[in-house]
Amino acid sequence: MELLPIGKMKEKIHNLIREREWDKYQSPKNISMALSIEASELLEIFLWLTEDESWQIKTDPEKIEEIQDELADVLYWLLLLSDLLNIDLNDAFWNKIKKNEAKYPIDQCKGSSKKYTEWSTEADRLN
Ligand SMILES: [Mg+2]
Repeated sequence: MELLPIGKMKEKIHNLIREREWDKYQSPKNISMALSIEASELLEIFLWLTEDESWQIKTDPEKIEEIQDELADVLYWLLLLSDLLNIDLNDAFWNKIKKNEAKYPIDQCKGSSKKYTEWSTEADRLN
């Protein structure tokens, strides 16, 4: 299977949409809703599982295929939404990583699951 860069993936998505005349349904509102719905379908796979059962899912090929499909659905809508809004996902990713590194300094949050608002006033200023 071909390894596609983001630009090629977007092109594939647009071809799929154009060939089916689905352009009229493509709005930021609809696409963001579809993205959320697909993320929820991923959550549904794990709903009611214990922590251990959620790890054991790795040994179930059918469940892994379901997860793979939902991840691909999320990626599809993510790419489409970013394209419709002219958002460069590479830039967005690196900018967010920098923000998270600033919000969660290693010396303050290492080993802690607390949200930055619970321990940092500096991080609050970055928002
Ligand atoms: Mg789905």
